Amino acid sequence: MRIDDTYSRPLGNLRVSVTDRCNLRCQYCMPEEEYVWLPREEILHFEEIGALADVFMALGVDKIRLTGGEPLLRRDLPRLIRLLATKPRLRDLAITTNGVLLAEHAQALKEAGLRRVTVSLDTLRADRFAALTRRQTHAQVLEGIAAVTRAGFTETKLDTVVIRGVNDDELVDLIEFGKHAPAEVRFIEYMDVGGATRWSMEQVVSRTEVLEILESRYGRIEPVLEETTAPADRYRLPDGTVFGIIASTTAPFCATCDRSRLTADGVWYLCLYALRGTDLREPLRRGATREELAGLITGRWRQRADRGAEERLALRERAPLVQIARLKEDPHLEMHTRGG
Ligand code: SAM
Ligand code: SF4
Ligand code: SF4
Repeated sequence: MRIDDTYSRPLGNLRVSVTDRCNLRCQYCMPEEEYVWLPREEILHFEEIGALADVFMALGVDKIRLTGGEPLLRRDLPRLIRLLATKPRLRDLAITTNGVLLAEHAQALKEAGLRRVTVSLDTLRADRFAALTRRQTHAQVLEGIAAVTRAGFTETKLDTVVIRGVNDDELVDLIEFGKHAPAEVRFIEYMDVGGATRWSMEQVVSRTEVLEILESRYGRIEPVLEETTAPADRYRLPDGTVFGIIASTTAPFCATCDRSRLTADGVWYLCLYALRGTDLREPLRRGATREELAGLITGRWRQRADRGAEERLALRERAPLVQIARLKEDPHLEMHTRGG
């Protein structure tokens, strides 16, 4: 089954946020200390996520990524993974985590059937981590990354949001760290998403700049040629090391974007930048049939015309997407609610 949107982009990739809560306060995502959290009774139960996943998979979704907030804060997460991993239509089941709780959970995640892990790692320096996240848990993140490999995971990725004046002097160190982890490092351009209330264009380190910095150290960098809808462009260093760049701000990939997002309380967003989503929890809890849910999802996807990052790029004056007051009124606009 394939359902296309108005730009012939199929419904393919679903990011499921399992909680909006987080144990870090990254300045580019959650710069405030206090947030308005989603009410507990509105958070989807695992069985409800499973039921929605079944409908999405019948409509073409074959890749699911669990995210958050911090997904490992969700109690008993391996149970959800077991529930999803057995679905025959699912080709890929991954997680994006900040790594703080990974050391204690990596083995159980692997045993439950999780296929791949992406850890967000912006710095190798504990003092910087503390300044960037307002928490002192850098050592736990590094232990968590080691535990991923020990648990037998392969194809691990390390995602780094590069911010000028914050961590743009660590690109080489991160690549070297990735070689030994082992994990593929991906540099992400700083995005002006909801929640990034301190964003400015000056702080964005573009793909071009990242390549220049790395070429001046390693010599000639070759692109890895591949046909995929994955957001990262991949490159190879002279020694064969592969890394990625997600140029979401300066060279958006909306044209091939097959991703949508389900929040922990069951609101479905067709774009990271979308201001409104579709409530799937309400019909689900009302007892809607699979066919009714499939009809709702199909109808919305067929009308999808979102190209959020491209529209942002076309703006002359670019400032944070949403101001704090509006985010407090509607936490669904937050990156940590959408799942990144
Ligand atoms: N808490 C988990 C984590 O940090 O990996 C999962 C959720 S987090 C919202 C998902 C990803 O979004 C992380 O890799 C994070 O670095 C990225 N992210 C958050 N805010 C961003 C921003 N303003 N620009 C680019 N990436 C951002
Ligand atoms: Fe940082 Fe992820 Fe938490 Fe956002 S959700 S504050 S990126 S750890
Ligand atoms: Fe997809 Fe929206 Fe991101 Fe563009 S901005 S790549 S359409 S989620």
